Amino acid sequence: MIVQPKVKGFICTTAHPKGCKESVRRQIETTRKFGKKQGPKRVLVIGSSTGYGLASRIAVAFGYGAATMGVAFEKEAKGKRTATAGYYNTKAFEEFAREEGLYAKSFNGDGFSEEMKQTVIEEIKKEWGQVDMVVYSLAAPRRVMPDGTKVTSVLKTVGKPITEKTIDLTSNQVLETTVDCATEEEIRATVQVMGGEDWKAWMEALSDADALAEGVITLAYSYIGPDVTHAIYKEGSIGQAKKDLYQTADFLNEQYSGVNLRAYVSVNKALVTQSSAAIPIVPLYISLLYRVMKDQGLHEGCIEQMNRLFLDKLVGEVPLDEERRIRLDDYEMKPEVQETVKELWKKADSDNIETIGDIEGYWEEFYHMFGFGYENVNYEEDVEL
Ligand code: NAD
Repeated sequence: MIVQPKVKGFICTTAHPKGCKESVRRQIETTRKFGKKQGPKRVLVIGSSTGYGLASRIAVAFGYGAATMGVAFEKEAKGKRTATAGYYNTKAFEEFAREEGLYAKSFNGDGFSEEMKQTVIEEIKKEWGQVDMVVYSLAAPRRVMPDGTKVTSVLKTVGKPITEKTIDLTSNQVLETTVDCATEEEIRATVQVMGGEDWKAWMEALSDADALAEGVITLAYSYIGPDVTHAIYKEGSIGQAKKDLYQTADFLNEQYSGVNLRAYVSVNKALVTQSSAAIPIVPLYISLLYRVMKDQGLHEGCIEQMNRLFLDKLVGEVPLDEERRIRLDDYEMKPEVQETVKELWKKADSDNIETIGDIEGYWEEFYHMFGFGYENVNYEEDVEL
């Protein structure tokens, strides 16, 4: 079939198998340039198929030479429907890893479920005995709880609604949007989906099976960002889930001190991913941020961020902020970056956004996520789905 992008709102409903492979290949090449580092050799990544999780898997495999297991929730191709990008990314990753002589096993299904935890842990016991590192990068809109009830996370404010600028990326119009307040129930649900509960459940299940190696490291990811995004992110419903994640890191450090476990939350840069594209206001911020960071020679994508995390910050003494977090948003939060973004934010309107913002860069990364827009992939060619 000839596969073309079909964009609906903030999602593309098709993905290109060869383009996704190209995207993974490029990320591996970026990691290779960083050089090999000593690090954990048996790594489990939960949420391993796209965005920060996929980049983490690539960084540890091709940077440390680690064997990896990955868990993700992706769709296979069916009839004329392509598989999801994460499905193709995972296939491509496994192929490249095997060529390199690296063990790579992937599980497709619901990472929140007890069944998935037990299946993965069984495999860990059989293949490795224990894990040296667990990366928790699952980002989902909803979760089926252990008792079968479904909870849905929301991207809303807490306390009072806000009206702020945003961008409609289908028409490049800068508009005002009002984001409503989350109810108590919605906040609770968002914490259940995106907070630390499931990370803790994975670590507990691994510990119960004696699958945590001495000195095991575990990581989860967060975002903080500047004032203009605080109402929707840091102080919003998702921010409450991230606070829960920080508390979970503290809990895990204490609970598993017997095996000298180290749990960290890494605060990453705002980037175009399937999850971030859904957050109101953030895409406008990202398009201005990209322009400024590119102009200042500071721009990074997921793989550059994860290379810096695993191959720089995590080797040797780990630099932490006053709340024990790793700060990979250090370049994003530089005063010279944020002051310029703030000025541009005030000015941004539908007439100037294509000049002062990096709309082209935003779309380029968006298409790349689904395997489109690579000059060395022939999109006119028939491909196997
Ligand atoms: P993403 O959407 O690219 O990836 C999410 C991953 O979770 C995918 O591999 C997907 O298959 C998997 N997943 C979803 N539901 C699942 C389920 N039920 N079971 C198993 N796997 C499931 O997201 P991302 O942006 O890379 O986010 C990863 C983490 O990074 C999140 O904690 C997010 O908050 C954080 N973060 C993101 C940004 C950003 O700008 N994108 C910035 C800082 C931190």
